[in-house]
Amino acid sequence: MASTLDFVGVVTALKAKGESNTSVLQLLGFQTENPVMDSLLPIDLAGVLSHNAANIHPGRLFMALRDSAGLDIFDVLRTVVPKVDGVDPPIVVLPQLGPLPLDEGLRDRINYLPPQLAAMAIDGLLNPPRQRDAALQDFAGGAVAAAIEGASKILVLTGAGISTSCGIPDFRSAGGVYSIVGDEFPELRDRPEKLFSIDYFKQNARPFFEFNTKMVNGLNSGTYRPSVCHRFIAELERRGKLLRQYTQNIDTLEKYAGVSRFIACHGSFATVSCTRSDVCGVAGQDADSVAEALAASTIPRCPKCQESPPPSLNKRATEATEATEGEGGEADADADAGAGPGRPDGAAAAEANVVCELFDQGVLKHDIVMFGEPLPKEFFANVQEDCSEADLVIVIGTSLQVGPVNRIIDLVKPDVPQILINREVVAPGHNFDSELLGDCDEVVHLSLIHI
Ligand SMILES: [Zn+2]
Repeated sequence: MASTLDFVGVVTALKAKGESNTSVLQLLGFQTENPVMDSLLPIDLAGVLSHNAANIHPGRLFMALRDSAGLDIFDVLRTVVPKVDGVDPPIVVLPQLGPLPLDEGLRDRINYLPPQLAAMAIDGLLNPPRQRDAALQDFAGGAVAAAIEGASKILVLTGAGISTSCGIPDFRSAGGVYSIVGDEFPELRDRPEKLFSIDYFKQNARPFFEFNTKMVNGLNSGTYRPSVCHRFIAELERRGKLLRQYTQNIDTLEKYAGVSRFIACHGSFATVSCTRSDVCGVAGQDADSVAEALAASTIPRCPKCQESPPPSLNKRATEATEATEGEGGEADADADAGAGPGRPDGAAAAEANVVCELFDQGVLKHDIVMFGEPLPKEFFANVQEDCSEADLVIVIGTSLQVGPVNRIIDLVKPDVPQILINREVVAPGHNFDSELLGDCDEVVHLSLIHI
């Protein structure tokens, strides 16, 4: 499917400001130092970008255009999506990016920007880049420790880096979740993130349920335990300094460490909710409640919705269950869906794979936020007020590559100090006052645990 992104316009705008081809690629999130790239003509570079559109993060695209090309939001939108002319005010534009006929991978990510975040993203685009606090860069002088001592409303933003020492694999590195998923389910090898695509889930639910079952077992057995970083955040809360922790992790180890003021922005595998929870109210149940059904390779159904299924869809549900026997995903399924090696045989297994027709009837699904789904309501209920109140930001264990959570720190007042604790520096576009680089647990243990 053709993309409507005007990559020639993107490249032209960036190159007009003196960016090399390599720096254009790096600004958009590609890790490349290939000298051949710099010999490409803009039109060819646009072709490279178009071909790899799924790897471009829209947040980075916007930031790169703003920072490098000095464009205003409307110019950015005109460049990225040429057909937005005449739409006013611009705040209504970004939420409408989703339905555009973009490449599938890109559409997944842009859909990920719900309207509330779109408004926030535009705010971020319109605000000038924040200035560093010169005093904080002198960490040797204890400036970071002093900043924490002096703060009373600390906003903590965390990612996989605080949980890797807990035995939980991260997603993107070699040996991480995505590479394991690709090994186990060959049909996902090229696009392992489809594990968290709601459309893929409806076609073949087995990888998602298997992934979550493994994770829940690890949590229940105590294999996964809170890290030094989790305990540090709990200590901040104990001292009344934690305004909120926004975590991108889905393991809920915060809870096990004693943190209560946290929001799991991407949901959690520790609980399940009905896919019709807005109607039936069945939400946030312990994930153990679906263990039996999953062990029997059947789709965990919502007991309340099964009691009184919607009359107009009753027949379809029965038909769907029968139709899935041995069919392996006939409804809109990829040719490969459910056809991977190791697929369990039998009607029950087939039913476990194909959720499509049952989804609207009430399936109990782990509460992980899928691509294309909005973030939890509590995120939106708190994020704007928290960002306006925070007096210190600490980012731990995330490279801020995943939107829209990576937008949060752009919303904090520009004079609020921001500290990064991470294995590596993060993508361009974020301007931390102090960067404490290294193993997150070690950095916290050596530098901050005694605060
Ligand atoms: Zn239900």
